[in-house]
Amino acid sequence: SVDRPRPLVAGNWKMNGLMRSSAKVLGEVHAGYTPGLRARVDLVVCPPATLVSAFAHMSVGTRVGIGGQDCHAKESGAFTGDVSAEMLADAGAAYVLVGHSERRQYHKEKDADVCAKAVAAHRAGLTAIVCVGETREEREAGKTLAVVRKQLRGSIPVDSNSHNLVVAYEPVWAIGTGLTPTAADVAEVHAAIREELKRLVGKADHAKVRILYGGSVKPSNAAELMAVENVNGALVGGASLVAADFLAIAGAY
Ligand code: PGA
Repeated sequence: SVDRPRPLVAGNWKMNGLMRSSAKVLGEVHAGYTPGLRARVDLVVCPPATLVSAFAHMSVGTRVGIGGQDCHAKESGAFTGDVSAEMLADAGAAYVLVGHSERRQYHKEKDADVCAKAVAAHRAGLTAIVCVGETREEREAGKTLAVVRKQLRGSIPVDSNSHNLVVAYEPVWAIGTGLTPTAADVAEVHAAIREELKRLVGKADHAKVRILYGGSVKPSNAAELMAVENVNGALVGGASLVAADFLAIAGAY
């Protein structure tokens, strides 16, 4: 349909990557992002903050987008060690992940914090990739949809649209574990997210917001996961560190 969003595959490198070896991987991604693939899917790489500037420079003219993995809510100030959305934009980023479960877990980020970061991303002209997802305990207790809906309501800014917002559904128990939900389970959660976006983003644009699936996406399961209704791409952790695997996942489209 005309409303179906263009797929997006984003690589979350987490705290991995030193300049020399990483430049090689990025170069392989550039080389593999052929016109045929470019015609079908957007590609984004989110390296550690130390590599954002270099990666953005290396990616000029390649149509590979660069993203940060987190940002502070404020534009500048006395926040030692933090990086603002404006700094990421200044370094050449066009995207930033906010509310990744590792940030929620290790840095105690709440929905309100995630929302403030997404607001900051928008203020800086970045597309916020807002991450949500239930824990194993929450899934086993049958709370998945309630948890995800609550996270969305708390984490998505009111000024969001299909250009400045991407949602990533990442079940916490699927991240880095090799476990994935069934296609039916993914379909159920993504449908609920789409429905929630109708209220949060508005009728005109909600159908075009990309909803990514993340959590143990690999070349071997990408086709099945990406074929699910309302799955408009992937957020890839471990497999994004290997260019051939990252490109194979993108090639599932
Ligand atoms: P994974 O990580 O692909 O290594 O499971 C996904 C993520 O945390 O974004």
